[in-house]
Amino acid sequence: MPWKWYDSTVKKIEDASPNTKRFWLKVEEPLPFTAGQFVTMDLPISEKRLKRWRSYSIANAPEPEGQLLEFCIVQLEGGAATRYLFEEVEEGSNIRFKGPSGTFVLPQPIEKDLVLICTGTGVAPFRSMIHHIREAGLAHRNIHLIFGTRYADSILYRHEFEALEQTMPNFKYSIALSREENWEGYRGYVHQIYQEHYSEVRPDVDFYLCGWSNMIDEAVAKLILEMGYNKSQVHYELYG
Ligand SMILES: Cc1cc2nc3c(=O)[nH]c(=O)nc-3n(C[C@H](O)[C@H](O)[C@H](O)COP(=O)(O)OP(=O)(O)OC[C@H]3O[C@@H](n4cnc5c(N)ncnc54)[C@H](O)[C@@H]3O)c2cc1C
Repeated sequence: MPWKWYDSTVKKIEDASPNTKRFWLKVEEPLPFTAGQFVTMDLPISEKRLKRWRSYSIANAPEPEGQLLEFCIVQLEGGAATRYLFEEVEEGSNIRFKGPSGTFVLPQPIEKDLVLICTGTGVAPFRSMIHHIREAGLAHRNIHLIFGTRYADSILYRHEFEALEQTMPNFKYSIALSREENWEGYRGYVHQIYQEHYSEVRPDVDFYLCGWSNMIDEAVAKLILEMGYNKSQVHYELYG
């Protein structure tokens, strides 16, 4: 899909965790995109064009095709764009962006198990993909979403994924919390979960990773160098 510039209006903003918000942007015309893609916002945070641009993954599915896009954004300390988005943007604000962009999308057809590994807002493209598989009724095998964050109050879309685990065939959801004391699930990082579940290397599984470089670098090294998966089985979207 070729990208173009869109004008949008912020329709709704909601807290998703203590430092993360969900933003819903309404575009003037439906925006066709593929689940997993992102847009690049032009935010008034610098005189220089390229310094104003920040990319954000679309967090909702392409279905039903509409004019409302959801984004899930974490505020970074000292971050110019996120300071603007969190402190100045409100319902009714206008945001211009270009898109859709990106090749971090589902294979077509889905012939292997999918292991989707993310930390924090890296869950956004996976949320879009999982809902797309469901809404479009795509044939699929096992899908395992592995989400990591520090504390329980920062688990994004928790109730939604827990509900999907009950209703969507072959969907499994695992959470790793690195700093929560009273947590009965995995304590630690996402790595221990896939290392435990996928220690036996097989060709019929693909890993998708999304988030910041600390997690991605470690996961790529573990999957390919330590565990022995083929490079072609590991796909990633780097946030920075
Ligand atoms: C394809 C793509 C999709 C993206 N999608 C999303 C998304 O859906 N949601 C989302 O929240 N972000 C997403 N990002 C990241 C986003 O584009 C910005 O980089 C991010 O919001 C920070 O922008 P900023 O202007 O606030 O920070 P900047 O002013 O650019 O940086 C502020 C400071 O934070 C540091 N920093 C950068 N990353 C981190 C980190 N992880 N932890 C601690 N410090 C850090 C920088 O080095 C810098 O010192 C995506 C990035 C890409 C490339």
